Amino acid sequence: THFGFRTVPLTEKQALVDDVFHTVARRYDLMNDLMSAGLHRAWKDVLVTAVNPPKSDRPFHLLDVAGGTGDISFRTVEAGGAGTRSTVCDINTDMLEVGRERAFQRGVEDVVEFVEGNAESLPFPDRSFDAYTIAFGIRNVPRIERALAEAYRVLKPGSRFLCLEFSTVDVPGLDTLYDLYSFNVIPRIGSMVAGDAEAYRYLVESIRKFPKPKVFARMIEDAGFRRVDVRLMTGGIVALHSGWRL
Ligand code: SAM
Repeated sequence: THFGFRTVPLTEKQALVDDVFHTVARRYDLMNDLMSAGLHRAWKDVLVTAVNPPKSDRPFHLLDVAGGTGDISFRTVEAGGAGTRSTVCDINTDMLEVGRERAFQRGVEDVVEFVEGNAESLPFPDRSFDAYTIAFGIRNVPRIERALAEAYRVLKPGSRFLCLEFSTVDVPGLDTLYDLYSFNVIPRIGSMVAGDAEAYRYLVESIRKFPKPKVFARMIEDAGFRRVDVRLMTGGIVALHSGWRL
């Protein structure tokens, strides 16, 4: 696989990804706002609307994989009723620590828990969650097929898999602009704010290496999900993939 502009074996990719998020954890939320010009908030809103937590006090338990500092979980418990809770699972303790602090600040520490774990081998029993989300996380996982198989395993039948991820811009004009932005602006903001341009070169490169929407949809089907759907946003900068475990 590729890391930045170097080629690294699949087994080393995870260690390099962990370094990136260790370095940026404290600045992560600020970086998101700067680099996406606040757009990540709108994309996350679309994801949480699709999660559609019940407004009643019916029990509903989300698993938010690669959940980092907790954005998707906070939005979900705030949108849902009294029975809605969420488990953030992330491989990086620094990101989880920032997430825990944010949960206390928001007063949601009783309904959002933070668990260290790998998307490729989730530390949860079969059929235990009512929805699974992974936002801007799956492209960091070295073996995507394993993450999808694990998602299927931990979901209850009748519940939904939802994945928000950078995708492929295919609007003429916007693609050129997006390339300029990706290769010039992103690493610069990365070095100014997080002191690490290399980490953000990785980000750009990993987006380019990620499978195209149709190919990824097929991988989701191959994992066993049905009624797989793709929704492109902002000219294809981001895609929301979903599927049901029936
Ligand atoms: N979901 C959050 C959001 O949208 O703001 C955080 C996304 S952040 C770009 C990617 C996260 O994926 C990081 O917190 C990183 O630690 C996590 N991650 C990377 N590899 C992982 C793996 N194999 N299993 C679980 N989490 C992983």
